[in-house]
Amino acid sequence: MSERLVEPRVPRDLHAFIASLPKAELHVHHVGSASPRIVSELAARHPDSRVPSDPEALVDYFTFTDFAHFIEVYLSVVDLIRTPEDVRLLTYEVARDLARQQVRYAELTITPFSSTRRGIDERAFMEAIEDARKAAEAEFGTVLRWCFDIPGEAGLEAAEETARLATDDRLRPEGLVSFGLGGPEIGVPRPQFKPYFDRAIAAGLHSVPHAGETTGPETVWDALTHLRAERIGHGTSSAQDQKLLAHLAEHRVALEVCPTSNIATRAVRTLDEHPLAQFVQAGVLVTINSDDPPMFGTDLDNEYAVAARLLDLDERGLADLAKNAVEASFLDEAGKRRIKDEIDTYTTDWLAP
Ligand SMILES: [Zn+2]
Repeated sequence: MSERLVEPRVPRDLHAFIASLPKAELHVHHVGSASPRIVSELAARHPDSRVPSDPEALVDYFTFTDFAHFIEVYLSVVDLIRTPEDVRLLTYEVARDLARQQVRYAELTITPFSSTRRGIDERAFMEAIEDARKAAEAEFGTVLRWCFDIPGEAGLEAAEETARLATDDRLRPEGLVSFGLGGPEIGVPRPQFKPYFDRAIAAGLHSVPHAGETTGPETVWDALTHLRAERIGHGTSSAQDQKLLAHLAEHRVALEVCPTSNIATRAVRTLDEHPLAQFVQAGVLVTINSDDPPMFGTDLDNEYAVAARLLDLDERGLADLAKNAVEASFLDEAGKRRIKDEIDTYTTDWLAP
């Protein structure tokens, strides 16, 4: 995983600027953030798993042939999370990796159904993530919030369970801010999930489904119309529909763009064909995110470098991109102001003669 799938080719000092730039991360998956070190630790703890525990063998294991293969590998790593202690360890270590990249605030997408279905006690699960969240904030200064997402491939049973866990006052964790929908899009129409999103929204959660990653712009329209999406996970195919781009821009519906992920899953063929610049030209609020970083041989810093290459950005442009993510987050206004001010101060100091 030392080699980058996508080489950003930006100057060394721009890399240094990105590395210390305060950031917000809005689209990153809990299990998908497990670093090779954590995965190998978990695999060693659960030797009956088919995931290799040898870090070098893990590199081959994480090389995907297509989106379906990626989902298969992803689910085998999900299978390593079997006890509340596994959950706590993973969450805390993910926060450590985010903090190392100067991520001040992250909305981490968690799929509780994957754990409760495996027999992890639901209350113990909630306690494990909350315990890790509080420890991470106290020790690393990184604020974590949760998005609970429906694993689309598991169908309506999973939707029901996720909605229940997200809205039951006795279970719902303090850090939960949003409700999502992940997994494959082909053969999993968005409108069927409307009742579950309605319940989550009624309980005060924000709507952030994945859409238009591997299917056309009609899926993004479905997410807007039926699921009342406030942000779109990926939304890559929105570029094929000018009316949709205009709608996203007008209503300030941000796209959570994850460039390397799109290449790794073959959702976009080459980086030169990536529609990021089209989104920006259309006035859409774009945010840069890492999705499942260790699995895609990337991290958030690298995604900013890739964006700098795609959009031909300098330091100020990168700072604006970082502020977009803060703006599109579900932080309160004072929290947003604080991080944006920090970004401005950092940038001004960096550029000072
Ligand atoms: Zn995702």
